[in-house]
Amino acid sequence: MDVSSLPQITILATGGTIAGRGSTPDQSAYTSATLHVEELIASVPSLSELAQVDGEQVAQVGSQDVGPAHWLELARRARVCLAREGTAGVVVTHGTDTLEETAFFLDQVLPSDKPIVVTGAMRPASGLSADGPRNILDSVRVAVHPGARGRGVLVVLDEIIHSARAVTKTNTARVSTFQSPDMGTAGAIIAGRTTFYRKATPRPERSLPNLEGLTSLPRVEIVSACAGAQPDVVQAYVDLGAQGIVLAGVGNGNASKEMVAALAEAVSAGVPVVRSTRAGSGFVARNLEIDDDGLGFVAAGPMNPAKARVLLQLALLDTTEASRIQERFFSV
Ligand code: GLU
Repeated sequence: MDVSSLPQITILATGGTIAGRGSTPDQSAYTSATLHVEELIASVPSLSELAQVDGEQVAQVGSQDVGPAHWLELARRARVCLAREGTAGVVVTHGTDTLEETAFFLDQVLPSDKPIVVTGAMRPASGLSADGPRNILDSVRVAVHPGARGRGVLVVLDEIIHSARAVTKTNTARVSTFQSPDMGTAGAIIAGRTTFYRKATPRPERSLPNLEGLTSLPRVEIVSACAGAQPDVVQAYVDLGAQGIVLAGVGNGNASKEMVAALAEAVSAGVPVVRSTRAGSGFVARNLEIDDDGLGFVAAGPMNPAKARVLLQLALLDTTEASRIQERFFSV
């Protein structure tokens, strides 16, 4: 085989369980973010039949420690790789806890012509039936597939292809934890073949944000509703400097009268509020039980609280106007 004719893929590694190691194969305790990207690549010898793979270590953390500074650095590095004429696509390895936030951030800020695939693992590299090597192989398979172009950022684990916009982690431990509850999955790796269920739909017209020189994003906090939730946390976040608030509401982004009043006060103080839901799936629509038009709230549409926070952080780079933020949420 002429190796130089194979597509070029760069793996950007950030840590997580996929790079984790325990002292014995059946030990459930382990340390995440231990293996270097070169070790990850070496753990999947058959990669060399699919692509010319190189690696860059962008971070080495569990994804509970990933934040906007990591997202911005990852986007910068991915942009550099994707701009190389010879690069066919990029694969990002990541902890699974906040994988959906990083994948969604990249989806919103990177061009979507060349494939960008985010993956992770639920079992450490040293564990019995480790899922990381298979997930890396499948991610590279997807990244070299022509049908992966123009779909935005994809997430590949457990032989399933998800859109970053649709996917969420649903289980603390199972390898099948990633699901796309409302929008459905994009495809699967079936008997080693990448299969997309639908043609790529064109992305909505969007201008990509200028992230040049940024090392942080506007502070957005998530406030949870539950039976008897205390509304004074809303003002506390405003006093701490929150520039936006996401409600992880009950049901259709709902909250008690007192909490709704506190959120309306935040809006009056110039702090945009997005209503999302703790329900785990479903679309938060405007003006059902809550008068969004009157109170100046934004409905999160299909975005869960964690992704709504990412989208609000990005929207706040341009505007604090509720109607313009709403457009962003209804056109992801
Ligand atoms: N908390 C770790 C992380 O998100 C482990 C979870 C995982 O990677 O599966 O990096």
